[in-house]
Amino acid sequence: MAKVKGFVSIKIEYCKGCDLCVHECPQDTLVLSDKINQKGYRYAEMTNDTCTGCTNCALVCPEAIITVYRENLKKKSKSVEKIQTVSV
Ligand code: SF4
Ligand code: SF4
Repeated sequence: MAKVKGFVSIKIEYCKGCDLCVHECPQDTLVLSDKINQKGYRYAEMTNDTCTGCTNCALVCPEAIITVYRENLKKKSKSVEKIQTVSV
């Protein structure tokens, strides 16, 4: 079991569906949704809980709409760390 668990928050209303984050995710955590956002693009979303919080997706997103969080599972009291915050 991974010692660090991650998750991402994606501002889907700004997503352009470019697919870059999906391709750069080493865990195959992200997919493009079958649904579309207000701009008419299929948007990225998490499809499973395999995220490690590596930040690859946030770094490649041209819209800078992904925020990564990491939870250290080794600590007794769960701590969630916000890794990267970017705003549009
Ligand atoms: S932080 Fe890393 S593992 Fe998590 S969704 Fe993004 S690219 Fe995938
Ligand atoms: S890289 Fe950004 S804009 Fe492109 S699909 Fe992922 S979240 Fe959407």
